[in-house]
Amino acid sequence: MSLKSPRKTQYEIRSAIIDTAPTVSRPIPVRADVHLDRLRDNVSVLRTQANDASLMAVVKANAYGHGMTRVARALRAEGVRHFAVANVPEGARLREAGLEAPIQVFAAPLAEHLPAYARHDLGVTVSSPAVAKAVVETATAEAPLRAHVKVETGMGRIGLARSEAERALRRLADAPHVRLVSLWTHFATADERDLSFTRKQLRRFRALLDELPNALLDEIEHVDVANSAALLALPDEATAFTGPLIRTGLALYGVAPREDMTDRLRPVMRFTARVTHLKTVTAGAPVSYGRTWIADAPSRIATVGAGYADGYPRLLSNRAEVGIRGRRYPVVGNVCMDMLMVNLGAPGGEGAAVEVGDEVVLVGEGGPSVHELACWAETIPYEIMTSVGPRVPRRYLAAKGEEEEQCES
Ligand SMILES: *Cc1c(COP(=O)(O)O)cnc(C)c1O
Repeated sequence: MSLKSPRKTQYEIRSAIIDTAPTVSRPIPVRADVHLDRLRDNVSVLRTQANDASLMAVVKANAYGHGMTRVARALRAEGVRHFAVANVPEGARLREAGLEAPIQVFAAPLAEHLPAYARHDLGVTVSSPAVAKAVVETATAEAPLRAHVKVETGMGRIGLARSEAERALRRLADAPHVRLVSLWTHFATADERDLSFTRKQLRRFRALLDELPNALLDEIEHVDVANSAALLALPDEATAFTGPLIRTGLALYGVAPREDMTDRLRPVMRFTARVTHLKTVTAGAPVSYGRTWIADAPSRIATVGAGYADGYPRLLSNRAEVGIRGRRYPVVGNVCMDMLMVNLGAPGGEGAAVEVGDEVVLVGEGGPSVHELACWAETIPYEIMTSVGPRVPRRYLAAKGEEEEQCES
């Protein structure tokens, strides 16, 4: 692949496309570029922020839409040693891809799924006394289990009550085929400006640590509390534990949980589509299903080859903007399953230069940020990123001159 083609953007001139797998040239007018060099930059930003505490890379939900195995390999090559996923099949997929690092599964496990954890060497979230009991009873010399004991401090989701923790920890510590890997909790509001509830959760967690006997604490390898938001908002508190791990998802992908949290992260994904059709409509002409937009003047309308089945929310109908040739244009009419329409303005105006085949930036440089899109869609960046659909080809980019092993996403 030539790097000198004049049609390439500045970024691509500096970059080598390191995945030329067939998906890249799949004939479909939508694509997600995944900039692995930025992922690496984000790792070093976050490590500094974490006072060099170990990162646990959260690669659940296909690495927040970026492609789980590719992202995990890039992070492993960057020295990241701990990984987390949402469920057993995600962990099994990482094992099949050859990842040998520890992997924690965040879900509360069903007892009948525990043998699968052992089979794939996945860390079990011990979410209740019943799970602790099941873990102890399931683990064998041939199929040992790794336990991550989750305590409830205010998230209200899963975990042991403070009063239940010591007994469960002791039980797990005494079980010959169970490895007590971590004791952890999860914050509910670390992404809010008001950190008082996060501090309250921290106090509750510390109170639990204080009442546990030292001999028992010594059995636990890692104590962890922080997600991306807590790392960015309370780095010292988040890392002031034994063998701290920082469970980072969103920030790794270059997006801060709150837009004003940091400007040092670089978004890893750029989500684009292409103009597939152009027309000029007269005043009074309707656009798309339901005729929710009617032209009030002659208008140039571009049809773009992406829709809600690609992960572009239908709630963005008549709300969002896209970037084309460095300018912003509004989405008009309802977003369809596979297409959306954009108003390029008056015929002969600035939008007249737009041609069929032009790139349309749905999210990323040259278009809206993921925070902007999330705001228009009344959601959070997490949902936008994880919605980028399976039919959208991912193209992996790395800085020029870097070696990247090939693997499928
Ligand atoms: C998803 C998840 C994380 C990662 O959260 P980010 O905000 O993306 O950093 C951390 N911990 C748990 C328990 C999670 O479920």
